[in-house]
Amino acid sequence: MQELKIKLVSMREIAENTMQYNFKKPKEFDFKAGQFVVLDVINPKFSDNRPSFRSLSIASSPHEDVLSFIMRHSDSAFKKSIKAVKEGEEVIIKGPLGHMTLPENEFTPVIFLIAGVGVTPALSMIRFMENKISKNPVRVLYANRTLRSAACLEELKKEVNLQDYKFVSILSHENGTCECVRGRISKQLVSENAVDLKKAKFYIVGTLGFVNAMKGILEELKVEKKQINIDNFG
Ligand SMILES: Cc1cc2nc3c(=O)[nH]c(=O)nc-3n(C[C@H](O)[C@H](O)[C@H](O)COP(=O)(O)OP(=O)(O)OC[C@H]3O[C@@H](n4cnc5c(N)ncnc54)[C@H](O)[C@@H]3O)c2cc1C
Repeated sequence: MQELKIKLVSMREIAENTMQYNFKKPKEFDFKAGQFVVLDVINPKFSDNRPSFRSLSIASSPHEDVLSFIMRHSDSAFKKSIKAVKEGEEVIIKGPLGHMTLPENEFTPVIFLIAGVGVTPALSMIRFMENKISKNPVRVLYANRTLRSAACLEELKKEVNLQDYKFVSILSHENGTCECVRGRISKQLVSENAVDLKKAKFYIVGTLGFVNAMKGILEELKVEKKQINIDNFG
């Protein structure tokens, strides 16, 4: 595991209360799409009774020269401190960590069941697959409360260049018009959209409640544990 200082290049709000931070990727930092790092703010401006570091998935693909992170903003000292970091200043990362990576077999279907900022590792993996012109069938079931809170929705809906790709947006609290399924990810929605339930690799990413709900659905669909990868964002 490496410990490196990385320099902030830019930051912006990409969805309601959701920030994207772009750092310059050091040449010596290698990672696989889907992995995460522990990010520590140097001399944080705010403090509370929690540590000054958090586990964060990498949103950019290994082939890019930026390291991007996407975070829901909150009142925690960590989130306020990272938002106070200025362009050109450095933070510390330790990593890469995690085993949530893509299948070796390029025909294995890849199915993402993701919610909120759980989109982050999926973005890295999808961008990586696009870059290597992957043949894997890819399905994305992306749950959010509203359109405004859904990060990178347009990119995932319209701009993905993969030969067998399907995207479904699921919104639980949207009142306006949307090209979406209203409500929550159900067993029926998963079975209608999944490709080859016996061979597919599933990637579940979100908060504990979401992760447990998706595990329950896959159990009912008799998907084996070895087919399921999970990142529990807590
Ligand atoms: C592998 C992995 C990858 C992750 N990737 C991302 C990512 O890409 N983007 C992202 O935003 N997050 C990611 N997370 C989650 C991230 O590490 C943080 O936990 C999350 O962002 C919340 O951080 P926070 O500082 O806003 O809240 P925190 O201060 O960490 O609080 C989290 C929760 O704990 C509660 N809490 C805090 N302190 C206490 C206390 N003393 N007693 C009781 N409850 C308390 C809070 O109310 C809140 O609900 C990832 C986590 C893991 C494990």
